[in-house]
Amino acid sequence: MSAVLAPRGYEPARLPARTVAAAAGDGIGPEIMQATQAILRAADPTLGFHEAVVGLRAYEAGHAAGLGQDVYDAIAEHGVMLKGPITTPQGGGYKSVNVTLRKTLGLYANLRPCVSHHPFVASLQPRMDVVIVRENEEDTYAGIEHRQSDEVYQCLKLITRPGCERIVRYAFEYARAHGRKQVTCMTKDNIMKLTDGLFHKVFDEIAAEYPDIAAHHMIIDIGTARIATRPQDFDVVVTPNLYGDILSDVAAEVAGSIGLAGSANIGRDCAMFEAVHGSAPDIAGMDIANPSGLLMAAVMMLVHLGRARPASDIHNAWLRTLEEGIHTADVHREGASRQRVGTQAFAQAVIERLGQRPRRLPAVDYPESVPARAVAPDSLPAPVRRAEKRLVGVDVFLNWDEQGRDPKVLGARLEQLGLTGWRLAVITNRGVKVYPGGHAETLRTDHWRCRFLATAGTPTPVELTQLLMAIANAGLDAVKTENLYEFDGVRGYSQAQGE
Ligand code: NAD
Repeated sequence: MSAVLAPRGYEPARLPARTVAAAAGDGIGPEIMQATQAILRAADPTLGFHEAVVGLRAYEAGHAAGLGQDVYDAIAEHGVMLKGPITTPQGGGYKSVNVTLRKTLGLYANLRPCVSHHPFVASLQPRMDVVIVRENEEDTYAGIEHRQSDEVYQCLKLITRPGCERIVRYAFEYARAHGRKQVTCMTKDNIMKLTDGLFHKVFDEIAAEYPDIAAHHMIIDIGTARIATRPQDFDVVVTPNLYGDILSDVAAEVAGSIGLAGSANIGRDCAMFEAVHGSAPDIAGMDIANPSGLLMAAVMMLVHLGRARPASDIHNAWLRTLEEGIHTADVHREGASRQRVGTQAFAQAVIERLGQRPRRLPAVDYPESVPARAVAPDSLPAPVRRAEKRLVGVDVFLNWDEQGRDPKVLGARLEQLGLTGWRLAVITNRGVKVYPGGHAETLRTDHWRCRFLATAGTPTPVELTQLLMAIANAGLDAVKTENLYEFDGVRGYSQAQGE
C-alpha cells in the first residue's frame, strides 16, 4: 500500500518521539501489521518501530521458543511490543512464543476489553462493554503436573499473595484511570477455600483502598453465566488465570467481535499488545484479513504509553468506519454493510476518517492525563508479615491397589504400624473420606491420601522420616507427602470431604 496521508485539515498530535518494538508474526500477521502501522503513522507520526522477528522465521533459524535474544533486547530497550499472531509449529520441541514471552517477561496482567458494536457488527449482547483483567502467570498455568499412579494425574494450582495483590491492584488502578465505576472479582472460593479464598480475601482488602469504585464478588460459574446474559451489569472483572482464560473467550464471543478484539499483557517493566485471534493461515496473503484486532491492541498500547490523543483519534475513526458500513469480509453482512473492503483498503478508510467521531456508537476520549504508570504499578507488593508456622501433621499419598481396594484393609495396615507420636486421622480417595467410616458407593481409585496428625507437640524431621520409613517397611508405596501446618494457629490445609 502506498503511504496514505491523513485527510486535509487533520492535525496529528505532535508528541515526543518514541520507538516501540514490533513483530509482524506469521500468516496474516504481516498484512495486518502493515495496515496497523500505516494508521499509527498517520495519527502519531513521531512513533517509530523497531522491527523484530518472532514466529516461524525464528523457529526455522533454530530458536526453539520462536524468538531470539534480539527480541528480548528490543523489548528491554523500548518497554513495549506490538506483536502479530504466531503459528506454533506442530510436533514436539517447539515452545509457544506467547507463553515464553508472558513468563520470561513477567507479564502478569492480561487485559481484554469486550465491547459490542451493535448494530454495525452482529452481537448477541448489543449493550456490552466489559474489561476482563486476567491473572496471567499463576494458578494451574504454572504447569506443574505429575502422574502418581496408573489412574491418577495431578496439576498443582498455585495462588500467591504477591500475585493476587498485583493483579487486583492493577484492576482497580485500571478502573480508576479509565473512569470505570465497578470491579467484580470472580473465584470459586466456595470450593477452593484456601487458594481462591486468598484471591477473594486480597480483593476485599484492596477494594477498601478504592472507596470511589464499587466492588463485588461472584462465584465464577454464575458470574460467567451472567456475563453471557446480562453483561450490562459488569464493568471491570478480575479473576485468576484459568477462569479468566475461559471467561474472556466467552465474553469476546458474546460481544460478537472476537476478530475485532485486542489484548494487552502488562508486566512491571514491559508490556506486549496483540490481537486476540490467531495467524489465520487459511486466508494469509489474500488481503482479506481484518486488521481491527491488532489495531485495537495498538490503541491500548498508545494509551499505556500515555499517547491519549492519537489513541482516541484512531479509535473514533475506526468506529466511524464501522458505522459507515465499510467492512472486511469477516464482519460483512448483506443489508447491514455498505462496502466490502480488503485489509489495506480498510486501513485507508480509517486513515481518511481521522479527526471524525462516530455518530451513533459512543465516542472514545482517552484521558490525556493517564500516566503510563497509573495502569502499571511499578513496585512489587510489600513483603508479607511472617506468620508463626507450626507443623501439625502430614498427608501421605499412597499408590495402593490391593485386596479389592477395601479402605478398611488399608486402614488396618496403617493402624498396625505401631507409630508413636502419630495418629491416623482419616483416609480419603479423590478427596472423599473412606476411612474410618465412608460409603460403599464412593468410587475408589488406586490413589489414597492418608492423613497423620501429630499427637505430642510439633514432630521433628526425624519423626517425619520415621513415619515414612515405617510406611515403606510395610511394603506400601508413598508417592508424595504434604506437610500440614498451622499459621498463627489457623489451619493451613483443607479438611477432607466428610471428615
Ligand atoms: P485463528 O484465529 O487463526 O483462525 C480462526 C478462524 O478465524 C479462521 O477461519 C480465520 O480465517 C478467521 N480469522 C482469524 N483472524 C481473522 C482476521 N483478522 N480477519 C478475518 N478472519 C480471521 O485460529 P486457528 O485457526 O485456531 O489458529 C491458527 C494458528 O494461529 C495456529 O497455529 C494457532 O496456534 C495460532 N494462534 C496464535 C495466537 C497468537 O499468536 N496470539 C492466538 C491464537 C492462535
